[in-house]
Amino acid sequence: MSILIVEPVANDLALLEQLLKAWGYSDVIACASLDDARVQLGLSNVSIHALHDLELAIIDITDSESFPKFVDELRQRIYYQDIPILTLSEGSRSEKMPTAFAFGAADFVSKPIAEYELRARVRSCLRLKHEVDRRKSRERELMEASHQLSDLNRILATVSMIDSLTGIPNRRCFDENFEQEWKRTFRNGGNITLIIGDIDYFKQYNDSYGHQGGDSCLAQVAQMLKTCLKRPGDLVARYGGEEFVLVLPQTNAQQATTICNNIQSALLTLALEHTGSKVSPNVTLSLGVASTEPSVTGISREVLLSRADRALYDAKKAGRNRFVMASNI
Ligand code: GH3
Ligand code: MG
Ligand code: MG
Repeated sequence: MSILIVEPVANDLALLEQLLKAWGYSDVIACASLDDARVQLGLSNVSIHALHDLELAIIDITDSESFPKFVDELRQRIYYQDIPILTLSEGSRSEKMPTAFAFGAADFVSKPIAEYELRARVRSCLRLKHEVDRRKSRERELMEASHQLSDLNRILATVSMIDSLTGIPNRRCFDENFEQEWKRTFRNGGNITLIIGDIDYFKQYNDSYGHQGGDSCLAQVAQMLKTCLKRPGDLVARYGGEEFVLVLPQTNAQQATTICNNIQSALLTLALEHTGSKVSPNVTLSLGVASTEPSVTGISREVLLSRADRALYDAKKAGRNRFVMASNI
């Protein structure tokens, strides 16, 4: 850390340098003029780095008309913005002090210099600088911590919406999405469809392939369902155990039929062996489908959900490995 001295009187410059060194401030930049200081500090170049790790500037302003301009140039450099300036001057205090303070000096010492006064004022200027540095560094730490916290919150918000086993949205995400899409469909008009899918004889699947095998099956079925979604607004979520739910905005019953057929054929292609199933050699799904135009029918989303659930129950009862459209009662 260095201290800049700008002192046109050669004897005073030598004295100041000698005093500062005697007080333990070994890194002193001694300049005979503000122009010299400009060069030393690199103010005449466009530099993004400080040439000196400056912590104080002591400037004699007795005959210096260009002091305000110099301070202005100094403050324009972000790294010199907080450097305290201790001004020195001959002549009456009342004449020079107002100028010094008006242009941002931190303190003022009259010449001839009284050593004890200069030393005390140097110390207090440095204390001020260190305090500002500490506060700024604390502010930077706080800012950094606050950014990290926002990042963590974003990650947490995403993680809390994802089912860890299958990697697809979870029940909570479904609840939020369904409510949102329901309201949007109600406002804009059009249909919305829910499909609830349940793996057939999954208990037997676990019995045959173990719980880990069951987990892997769930993950594969979830990924398969994802591939069956065509529009950006469509959602598939894990509804519970071996149940999945699809939210399909702007989709009517006829379009939902196509999607159910796509799911069944994607399952056929996936061909996950299921020796414990009574309906197929491979893993199958039963699907319950409910579709409505909320702004016309005026039903609640809970009613649509219970219709899809009821249709799933009917699909199971009718022999599984099929989809059933809910009747609108
Ligand atoms: P159905 O054809 O009537 O749907 O019969 P099911 O055997 O599929 O239905 P049931 O409700 O009797 O059994 C569901 C099984 O799903 C029981 C449970 O152990 C299993 N299960 C639920 N969640 C998980 C999971 O996260 N991993 C695994 N491996 N199994 C699960
Ligand atoms: Mg079930
Ligand atoms: Mg089941």
